[in-house]
Amino acid sequence: MIIVICVPECIFHPPPSSPSKYTLRSWFAQPAKEAGAMAPVIDDDLHEGAQKKVDLSILSEPELNSLILLVDNGVRIIEPNFFKDSKAVKELKMASPSLNEHTLLTHLKSMSGKGIIDVDTTDPVLQCPQCRGQDIRIHFSCQKCGSKKVHKSMIIEHPFCGFKGTQKEFLSGEDLTCPNCGTDLTQRVDQIDSNHEEYYRVIGSFFECESCKHKMSRPEIAFTCSNCGNQFMYVDSIYEGLKKYLINDDVYDQILNRNNVKVLIVEDFEPEADVIGYLIDCYDSEKKFKVEYASTGNQAIMMFRRELHDVVILDLTLPDIYGLEVLEDMKKIKPDAHIVILTGHDDRETAVHAMKMGASEYIIKTSEAIQKIPKLIERLLSGKKGTT
Ligand SMILES: [Zn+2]
Ligand SMILES: [Zn+2]
Ligand SMILES: [Zn+2]
Repeated sequence: MIIVICVPECIFHPPPSSPSKYTLRSWFAQPAKEAGAMAPVIDDDLHEGAQKKVDLSILSEPELNSLILLVDNGVRIIEPNFFKDSKAVKELKMASPSLNEHTLLTHLKSMSGKGIIDVDTTDPVLQCPQCRGQDIRIHFSCQKCGSKKVHKSMIIEHPFCGFKGTQKEFLSGEDLTCPNCGTDLTQRVDQIDSNHEEYYRVIGSFFECESCKHKMSRPEIAFTCSNCGNQFMYVDSIYEGLKKYLINDDVYDQILNRNNVKVLIVEDFEPEADVIGYLIDCYDSEKKFKVEYASTGNQAIMMFRRELHDVVILDLTLPDIYGLEVLEDMKKIKPDAHIVILTGHDDRETAVHAMKMGASEYIIKTSEAIQKIPKLIERLLSGKKGTT
């Protein structure tokens, strides 16, 4: 029996408060199904030196989502300038338009407190005392009146005639002319003995305040924060190391490999297999399902033996062997696999028989029932009982 469902768009796209995130958490929290799976290693007394896996189930839902966002965008290190770096944040915002930098930083802090994320501190850097911004402009200011209208000026010598004076005295338009002998000075030299007519030397510099005309060799140093506009002197500045957050390999891999829920769709009628795959894909906003297809029973068993899928959607009517035989084999290979039987109306008794053989659920092929497959998979993975 064949049912073709027209699905114009992703009708199963979960709303923001989707239960799928809940299930993701339970996925992290559940015990390992296979050797080397992602549950925490508790028994480390026996394996001294064995690295203890970080248990991500202690994270709150929003913290976990922030971590997923970072890992999915390839972010391993959150440098102190991360939040100022428009490129990194822009990319994250493209992936998650609702991203709030402040919330993300809060999550990083709380996750480091829980020991999930590593923290490192940089060498001290100058920070704004008001907003802790690090994008700071440096100015000179007058020692006497505090004005920032301080100019640097050179003291120039014309070795040819021996005249020394300020840059201002030598300036005539854009060029330098010796005010003593009237020679146009074209070339700066720093050798003491160069005595060409057109050469000049810079013998010193000083600072002059435009406001009070005070001349000084060392002006005060003042700062302006580019972020909040705060102006401050170095005595008021913050000079401390910045926090740098690192997602260690273990945590990174756990997050990256979370999408290893393997689903096998065994269905000889391709359009129908496509519809089921499409529905799962639409529902799977976090891309944690890896869906594969088989069109015959033998192909399905071969693939299952290799991949040990977590969930199998199994059509009973296959071109080569009967679906119940496939079920039996799969249950022998991996007893805890969730096998969902697809059946026609007239197969109800067989379906009940399949349940007795270890099938997790059976679905009568109606368009309504098929549309519920993604939710059924979620439910089976979260270990909850119920009806679809
Ligand atoms: Zn001169
Ligand atoms: Zn001044
Ligand atoms: Zn500031």
